[in-house]
Amino acid sequence: MEQILRNFFLFLSKNKFFTKLAKKYGLRFGAGRFVAGETVENAANAIQQLNQKGMAVTVDHLGEFIDSKEEARQAADECVEMIKKIAEQNLDSQLSLKMTSMGLDISEQLVMENMRKILDAGEKHGVFVTIDMEDYERCQKTIDIFKELKEEYDNIGTVIQAYLYRTVGDIEELNSYRPNLRLVKGAYKESPKVAFPDKKDVDENYKKIIKMHMMNGNYTAIATHDDEMIQYTKQIEKEHNIPRDQFEFQMLFGIRTERQEELVKEGYKMRVYVPYGDDWYGYFMRRLAERPANVAFVIKGVFGK
Ligand code: FAD
Repeated sequence: MEQILRNFFLFLSKNKFFTKLAKKYGLRFGAGRFVAGETVENAANAIQQLNQKGMAVTVDHLGEFIDSKEEARQAADECVEMIKKIAEQNLDSQLSLKMTSMGLDISEQLVMENMRKILDAGEKHGVFVTIDMEDYERCQKTIDIFKELKEEYDNIGTVIQAYLYRTVGDIEELNSYRPNLRLVKGAYKESPKVAFPDKKDVDENYKKIIKMHMMNGNYTAIATHDDEMIQYTKQIEKEHNIPRDQFEFQMLFGIRTERQEELVKEGYKMRVYVPYGDDWYGYFMRRLAERPANVAFVIKGVFGK
């Protein structure tokens, strides 16, 4: 049953009609639990509150399925505005973004133009930028863009997904760039031709890449809510004397907030991924797919409780 619900929500997450409808009608159905609000101001307030609790942030202006150059440029301008806000309010926050929102499905040249604008602003204001990883179809293009930009900028990182068969090879290949990588299990619906269908294989591969990247001496963000993976990271830290300024834990806004606070108390760096904006639908559906128990929030949202 859980698998059926998971596939159902991942299917819904790609629906362009619902995406547009959701934008029009604003945050609904309990999405406010996972999304910090619709405006830059809302995001800045959420960041400030997390910073006060000793947590760093990476903020994401939500956006997927961009159809026009104009929309992609607007999305890039939003990112620049957010970077300026971070600097102006002296917030402890990085920025995350998606290549599709920068126009990847329109042209790579457009993405590069938008990215350089954002990275220049990030460089000027000391804000690090992470390229989120999307579905498999866009994985190679995203890695290529990352590599090209990494030759020009220091303030850029990307994400590697443990569920893909290619992942260990990517970690090996990217090592020469000394990259700051966020490691995740992977959130999209992928074919068994390219990704492990069984959770236990994904978990095993996740542990493998955590160890590889940390042992290579590269900065590692372990982005998971899974205690087993957190425990494993601590074990690697102890066994191999990995300094605490070489890695951090990351979790999503609104998920396992108590655990986030515990990790801060234990002296670990904790970064919360804070999404905001009116294009919340696809992100929200992927969160429901990960944990169908969250559907209870939707039901409450629908019935106005
Ligand atoms: P899961 O296997 O989903 O869960 C493992 C265990 O964690 C559960 O059994 C439970 O014990 C605990 N748990 C999970 N959720 C909850 C909850 N809501 N409440 C209580 N316990 C819970 N994916 C991408 O594909 N691309 C990205 O760029 C990307 N960026 C991300 C950034 C961050 C900061 C994070 C945290 C995730 C990101 N993801 C991304 C999503 C990621 O790929 C997973 O889909 C998501 O994190 C769920 O996997 P998990 O590692 O938390 O473990």
